[in-house]
Amino acid sequence: MADWTPSSWTTKPIKQDVVYEDAQGVKDALTRLQKLPPARHYSRGAAHYIANLKASLREVALGNAFVLQGGDCAELFDYCNQEMIEAKVKLLLQMSLVLIWGANKPVIRIARIAGQFAKPRSSPTETVNGVEMPSFRGDNINGFDADPEIRKPDPSRLVSAYFHSAATLNYLRASLSSGLADLHSPLDWGLGHVITPAIKEQYSKIVSAVKDALRFMRTVGIDKDRGVETADIYTSHEGLSLEYEQTLTRNLRDPIERSARNIGSAEPTSSFYATSAHFLWIGDRTRQLNGAHIEFFRGIANPIGIKIGPSMAADELVALLDVVNPRKEIGKVTLISRYGASKIAQFLPGHIAAVKASGHVPVWQCDPMHGNTQATPSGVKTRHFTDILAELKQALEIHRAAGSFLGGMHLELTGEAVTECVGGAAGLTEDGLGERYTTFCDPRLNEKQALELAFLVAGFYRE
Ligand code: PEP
Ligand code: MN
Repeated sequence: MADWTPSSWTTKPIKQDVVYEDAQGVKDALTRLQKLPPARHYSRGAAHYIANLKASLREVALGNAFVLQGGDCAELFDYCNQEMIEAKVKLLLQMSLVLIWGANKPVIRIARIAGQFAKPRSSPTETVNGVEMPSFRGDNINGFDADPEIRKPDPSRLVSAYFHSAATLNYLRASLSSGLADLHSPLDWGLGHVITPAIKEQYSKIVSAVKDALRFMRTVGIDKDRGVETADIYTSHEGLSLEYEQTLTRNLRDPIERSARNIGSAEPTSSFYATSAHFLWIGDRTRQLNGAHIEFFRGIANPIGIKIGPSMAADELVALLDVVNPRKEIGKVTLISRYGASKIAQFLPGHIAAVKASGHVPVWQCDPMHGNTQATPSGVKTRHFTDILAELKQALEIHRAAGSFLGGMHLELTGEAVTECVGGAAGLTEDGLGERYTTFCDPRLNEKQALELAFLVAGFYRE
């Protein structure tokens, strides 16, 4: 790619920049990262898996598959432990199974895991207990504890991020290949205190239909080659810390199919792959057309996401697509829309029409979380299950009406029994939020709310 290098972003204006006091420390950290191997060293190499995901997302863009993406808003290094990784993997697998049943299509799973360590913030500083200090920017930048010293950006955290990412991925893949992903094994399908008998009955029906189908597949022996026993989960995070991403972006040989497409023969070609994850996205705050983040993203071969909200003009959206995907590769870009339940009807139709007219064929994914954040009267950040569901339902209807395809959803969720979002069948109220409010950034769906949402969305597709 002409005039692009992994570091060409440094010539552009940048938003959400991190100012390190310790310039030598940054240099040392980046030198160290640059020497470490691509973090995704499976048997077939990072490029292979990234290209596989890209091929799958092409199918989503064409309406033949669905993508489920979910995980924490801010992942801490501390979440790199057996229980939390397994809980998240199980939840994503359960949800995907319900969605396969609902949409009647293969479901591609992408976790916000093994690298979702950097956060954009609306304000660079905050006041805690009367003391002004830098805001928490995520574990690869500073520490959460309310101490101005700990809140100082610390470059050695960039190196820690690499090792926590690698350890998380290692355990994730080990669990998937050692039976956790065996969907025949007894899963906890319970939904807790489901309030209305009608909803409960609907759930039980779906669960037994899914179980029957699995039993049938096993009986006739078609489960193994259909991936029922070992599912894949790809990893993703916001590509916010460009210093970090740059060092892990490597020039790798393209898988042979890609080489063939690139130059019309099977001669090997190579591309720059961001090996910190399979999928990276650009946040709503850093997607300026002439900014550093777009410059970095336009050069990588990975499938990428762009968050789009009410502040995105339709012509700017098309201009962005032209920059990051000039060859109009189908499914290369996932547009992750996050308008809010009360605004989606105003913005999504125009965005769909403009993109259609441009000839780009992206994956359309609905993030029903980030446009629906609100504070309770006592100042606790939360989201209402009804708003989340309402935005998803409208997204589906608007795409249908426009002859477009809603290919996926993007959620903030956790496998833990947290109390951060209001509502759901268990009837969590604002008063109950204090019980287990453990997020370090935005409020997440707990495992019951997430699974319930999957059931309800599956129901929309079945309608
Ligand atoms: C996020 O996904 O956590 C996030 C910050 O989203 P957005 O860029 O859409 O605000
Ligand atoms: Mn968030």
